[in-house]
Amino acid sequence: MKLFLYGHSFHYEMENLCRLFFHRQKIEVLEDCRDFDGPDAALTLVEPDGAGLRLLVRTRVGRYEGEAEDAVPASEKPQEIERRLAVLLFRQLEAACGVRPRWGILTGVRPVKLLRSLTERFGEEEAARVFREDYLVTEEKLRLSLTTMHNEGVLLSRSRPESCSLYVSIPFCPTRCAYCSFVSSTVEKTVRLIPRYVELLCEELRKTAQVVRDCGLRVESVYFGGGTPTAISAEQLSVLLGTVNREFDLSHSRELTVEAGRPDTVTREKLEALRQGGTTRISINPQTLSDEVLRRIGRRHTTQQTLDAFRLARDCGMDNINMDLIAGLPGDTVEGFRATLDGVLALAPESVTVHTLSLKRSAQIFQDGAGEPEAETAAAMLDYAQRRLTQEGYQPYYLYRQSRMVGNLENIGWCKPGCESPYNVYIMDETHTILACGAGAATKVKRPGADDLERIFNFKFPYEYIDRFQEVLERKNRVKHCYDQFDGTVRTLP
Ligand code: SF4
Repeated sequence: MKLFLYGHSFHYEMENLCRLFFHRQKIEVLEDCRDFDGPDAALTLVEPDGAGLRLLVRTRVGRYEGEAEDAVPASEKPQEIERRLAVLLFRQLEAACGVRPRWGILTGVRPVKLLRSLTERFGEEEAARVFREDYLVTEEKLRLSLTTMHNEGVLLSRSRPESCSLYVSIPFCPTRCAYCSFVSSTVEKTVRLIPRYVELLCEELRKTAQVVRDCGLRVESVYFGGGTPTAISAEQLSVLLGTVNREFDLSHSRELTVEAGRPDTVTREKLEALRQGGTTRISINPQTLSDEVLRRIGRRHTTQQTLDAFRLARDCGMDNINMDLIAGLPGDTVEGFRATLDGVLALAPESVTVHTLSLKRSAQIFQDGAGEPEAETAAAMLDYAQRRLTQEGYQPYYLYRQSRMVGNLENIGWCKPGCESPYNVYIMDETHTILACGAGAATKVKRPGADDLERIFNFKFPYEYIDRFQEVLERKNRVKHCYDQFDGTVRTLP
């Protein structure tokens, strides 16, 4: 598909919109060009017209040809000009392709955060109108966003100016899944790095605890993610959890989650190490309960291993377990997804997170180009999930989107009342500072009461993290510099 741009700089937004409708095609963008051609093409143009600006969109898709105009004052804000141009383009592509993307022209990753911000400024009724009429969000996604906004509000209201959360990165996995785009190293290739990595991670945790004390912060939640944290040994998990418990004051923390992720890494020994280390919540992620789909996505475990891992975790006293599923996996069907969800619900986990497949360019599956499901299939899966999870008493409590998601849909965390992961809400809403340790982790320092975030990145790969560890420690000092500049917004704890 060819996208022609003329007289404006909204390249990113216009290209993303075209991708909603032409997700299998390469979008060729031609800037400063108003003479458009090609069987599938769209022109988006902004030009002076008297005292104002003329917005024009012209499309040709197969036998469909469309043209529409709008006009704005020359003083109009760029965001509003961009939105109006996006609406013109969306309407024509919708008519040309006969599909209705449910999030309308919203392509950002945090629709609920946007809805909350609109609600705070204009009230809920007006915020809902803006979603429906200005952003063309369907009634169903609007209702979902409103429910999620209300549910997450309880957790958000508990965050204080001195709140922070801790993220610990274990970027190792037993093998690499074909749909994965994370910076994760397979244990097979990097096993020799793990002992040194754990040692240095403990040192970074000690340094971070000092920063927490120096800045007068209090830890609200702790999250071990990856990768697959349980890819390392029970002893290594104990050492890390012991360090966290010893170094940080966790008396205000409402969560210590460890992603057990891949069921093939879960053992009794590791679960006991997690329990003894104060873990309150784990995640065991089947993604699907179809062995055939697991094989196609290169996830080397079986459905039986998921069921066994879940029962073992219950047996070891884990009373808050999340299970991750993915809608839209290659080779999966709506019936297959239903069977997966029903199978998961039969286990009665405290939360279920339903992701939609995101086809990042770095993922092997995307490069192979095989078996990408239809957007309508993924949408039907999510519809079923919403219906069944609601019937079973689960509530949506956080929602986010990623680029290149099948059908431009979303990821939703569902849980039984009281079983939320506060960390998931805080990271998605960017509520307060997240102090992140380990390779690939990014600390985000949030000025209380403001929107801006200062990001401090650690090195991506374990070998870089190990080789340049002194720099990692030095970068942590920037957190204190940020808080010094906040100048009294954070209360120093007694
Ligand atoms: S378990 Fe997760 S992080 Fe690890 S390879 Fe698979 S998708 Fe990537």
